[in-house]
Amino acid sequence: MKNNKRISKLLKLDCGQCSSCCRDIQVDVTDADVKRLVKHTGISADRLVRLYGHNKDDKDIEGDWFKLSYGKRAIVLNKKRNGDCMFLGKDNGCIAYKARPMTCRIFPVCAVYDEEHDIVNLEKSEVITDKTITCKCSPGRGQTYNNIMSTAKRARIEHAAFIRKIDHWNKRVKKGSKNDFLRFIGLYISTNGSR
Ligand code: SF4
Ligand code: SF4
Repeated sequence: MKNNKRISKLLKLDCGQCSSCCRDIQVDVTDADVKRLVKHTGISADRLVRLYGHNKDDKDIEGDWFKLSYGKRAIVLNKKRNGDCMFLGKDNGCIAYKARPMTCRIFPVCAVYDEEHDIVNLEKSEVITDKTITCKCSPGRGQTYNNIMSTAKRARIEHAAFIRKIDHWNKRVKKGSKNDFLRFIGLYISTNGSR
């Protein structure tokens, strides 16, 4: 994928520090994201993430969806009671900034992948174009193409590896709980209980 005028314009967006993207959206994470956060914060994986359920009408369990003994789930970063991301600080900053998930690193840009997980485009994140949140980004210095592509390529490799683990899990005859799944993908669990 080559840089072009549209992408250059997109990459020039400067964050307006409004924190909407740390409050009102689900932050998808991979096992690699969670491992970095566990190492950085000392918080165990089962406390860092939560799962949300699959729409029963949708039969598709490809991609990020994994099957547990009680249904299909996806994994996202945990939130506080008020709905903010658990890492959103009082000053609207990210208290886990150095270990923040890949999605957060390139937001409000997102990479579009093909079936082989190759990056085919860079776009404004869907949550902005769908108006789920009002992003206050405005034209400024933004990020360089090389920086954003370097992060997007790393995210692509980690995401592809995560999807392979999910595929293995989904092919297992015996499905387990949230913590069984987290252990299966190599994450540290603090509790013995099965949730
Ligand atoms: S929603 Fe946009 S402007 Fe607000 S913090 Fe996120 S990236 Fe920055
Ligand atoms: S991890 Fe940090 S940057 Fe990402 S949503 Fe949470 S507070 Fe925002």
